[in-house]
Amino acid sequence: MINKKQTMDKRKTIALVAHDNMKKELLEWVMNNSEKLTNHRLCATGTTGSIIADKTNLIITKYKSGPLGGDQQLGAKIVDCEIDCLIFFWDPLESQPHDPDVKALLRIAALYNIPVATNKATADFIISSPLMNEEYERKLNIYEGYFNRHINL
Ligand code: PGA
Repeated sequence: MINKKQTMDKRKTIALVAHDNMKKELLEWVMNNSEKLTNHRLCATGTTGSIIADKTNLIITKYKSGPLGGDQQLGAKIVDCEIDCLIFFWDPLESQPHDPDVKALLRIAALYNIPVATNKATADFIISSPLMNEEYERKLNIYEGYFNRHINL
């Protein structure tokens, strides 16, 4: 295993996503924490981002709607180390047409060792952490076998 480190800036890039039944809860969380969130860069899947942009003064980069590939876009940004933190209020009571994308996003977030909140309590803990406003060395476990992967045919 190769241990690589990625330095997360004092100013984080936070991705915000909520399934439809959870959008109100995420919006309330964003409004309650808007002052803290202004210290960071925000991005979101399409509909979540539009709601936040409509209802707050926060600047937010919007990607495609989740079911149209927005979760995959966020996953690609995590792979490129352009997203530092994921706040993803997924719906534990309803299946989604894009469940494979949701699973992929959560897998990539775990693999790249970024902080992830899947509910309000965890989001509260993350946003209250002093590490949100400090540089942080994030360890990346890159498995050599995958890193230098080639297949002998
Ligand atoms: P949305 O996507 O913000 O476009 O609704 C969220 C999701 O379901 O992944």
